[in-house]
This record gives sequence, C-alpha cells and structure tokens, in this order.
Amino acid sequence: MDSKIGRPRFVIEAAEAESMAKQSGFASAAELLPSLVKSAQALARPPISNYHVGTVGLGSTGRIFFGANIEFPGLPLNNSIHAEQFLVTNLSLNAEPSLPCFAVSAAPCGHCRQFLQELRAAPGIRILITDDNNNHHHHLSSAADDNNHRLRRRYQDLSTILPHRFGPDDLLSKDVPLILERHNNDLALVIPPLPLENGNLNGGGGNRGKEEDLKLEALEAANRSHAPYSKCPSGVALMDCEGKVYRGSYMESAAYNPSLGPVQAAIVAYIVGGGAGYERIVAAALVEKEGVPVMQEATARLLLATVAPKCELKVFHCRSKRQ
Ligand SMILES: [Zn+2]
Repeated sequence: MDSKIGRPRFVIEAAEAESMAKQSGFASAAELLPSLVKSAQALARPPISNYHVGTVGLGSTGRIFFGANIEFPGLPLNNSIHAEQFLVTNLSLNAEPSLPCFAVSAAPCGHCRQFLQELRAAPGIRILITDDNNNHHHHLSSAADDNNHRLRRRYQDLSTILPHRFGPDDLLSKDVPLILERHNNDLALVIPPLPLENGNLNGGGGNRGKEEDLKLEALEAANRSHAPYSKCPSGVALMDCEGKVYRGSYMESAAYNPSLGPVQAAIVAYIVGGGAGYERIVAAALVEKEGVPVMQEATARLLLATVAPKCELKVFHCRSKRQ
C-alpha cells in the first residue's frame, strides 16, 4: 500500500494517524484501522503456510501499530510468531501503555486470544475482524452474505470471543506489572571470569566493545521481560552486519504455551527496525538465569542456527539483585 515509501512502516505517529482518518472521512483513528489491515498483511513473512495475517492496533497514545505473522522454515511450527503476538511486541518495543482496540484480517486463533489476556483489562479490548483472508470463497455473495459480513466488521469486546477467561488475574496479584506495563526485573550479570588470553579466537580484542554493548542490551531486554509465572526472565539482543542492535524480551503467558521467546521478540524488533533478510544478523547475546526451571539457550541456539546460520550466539547469565 505504502509502496512509495521505501521501507515498510510498523508504527504511524498519532498526528499522522489523525490526519489520515480525517482525509479518509473517518470520525476516529479506530474507524481507520480496518482500511489498513491489507497493508499489515503485506508485512507478513509466512513461507510455510503462505497465509498472510495482518493486524493493526490503536494505542492509547493515538499511535497506530502493525503486526503480521512470521514463520521459520526448517523448525517446528511452535516457533512461529502470530500477528497478534507481533503486534503486542511492537507496542511493547515502543513503550505503548495500552491497546484499546485493534483490527485483524482473520479471527484470532485460540493461542492469540489467550496471549492477549496478558494485557491489563484484556476483556474490554475492542476487536474487529475484517475476514480479508477469505480469497478462497469464490461464491457470488448474496445480500444476506454482505449483511453478515458487515455485522462481523464491527468492534466487539475481546471477552465476547474468549468468555470464561483464564489469565493473570487467576495467578498474580494486581500489583504485578503485565505486558505493556513498566518492568524492572532488577537483574545483574554474573560476570564470567575472563580467559587469561582473550580474543585469541578472533585474533584480537577488536570486537570486545561491540560484544559488551550487545551483552548489556540483552541484559536490558531481560530486565524488561514479562516472566511472572516462572520467574525466569530472559532477553536477547541481535546485531546486524552494520552494527545496529535489536533487542527482544521474553513474554510469558499464564497458560504457558502461548509465551513468546526472546529470540522471536528480537526478530520482531529486527523487522520493525527495518531489518531485511535474516542473513544480515551476525551476532546475538542471550541473558538468562542459570540452572532455573525455564531456560531459553537450547531453543535460541536452534532457532538462530536455522534462521541466521552466520550469527554467533553468546550466552550470559544473570541473577536477581533482590536476593
Ligand atoms: Zn494466533
């Protein structure tokens, strides 16, 4: 849609969102969202299913955020990033405090309905399903079909598509921050002893500064991680061949399986930040606790080795400063 703009955009600033709505004759930015869903679908990277899911959310700051589904050939399907998870990660990367409403191209799967429960006041989030994926329905549409379609294209509460929810309210006290709320996990690195002759693998210590930066970015990502159920936070920082860094925080779900791993979150940051092919990712750092029940290292290694084989992953351990 925005092909005149060289780089795909994942965030629209509030002033621009408002003027876009006005120009298109909509009373509010919320009414504009469905018209942007097709451009969100174009951002998807689904080489396995070729099923493009796009979602567009309006934040409480008035900014508009895009999300799309991402799949990784060569890996189990549970490594995939769903469009709604992408959207929530995008909001989190941009410190957006809440998601009052969003539009999405297809009805959210059960996994995403559950993942969205990690947002504060999730039952009241307004959702509109555009059904823009139904290209395979070649039948001639009747007036009744059109009417049904129009009825579906209305905002409804998330609670109407996920009643009897199980979520953070069942497990956490109200003062525990949820996704999109400010996290500080108070983690510090457990500094490993430096080898006596460092840099002998690379023939010098020239990368030490960048490696140190990457480690600290991954620590910051771990500090922002949402892991209130396992208390095993983690963060990943990726570096591309130009030295640009992208960080992602692990985000847990009360139901465990819809959790989003730190590499996936960092890949969302990479895509949102303008990263093109994954082969441009050359270095990565993972920060997590050692010897805890939930650890990311093995999965992170597998995911990165498959997606970005040239990328070197280094793992650093952290501990809580509170104990
Ligand atoms: Zn989903």
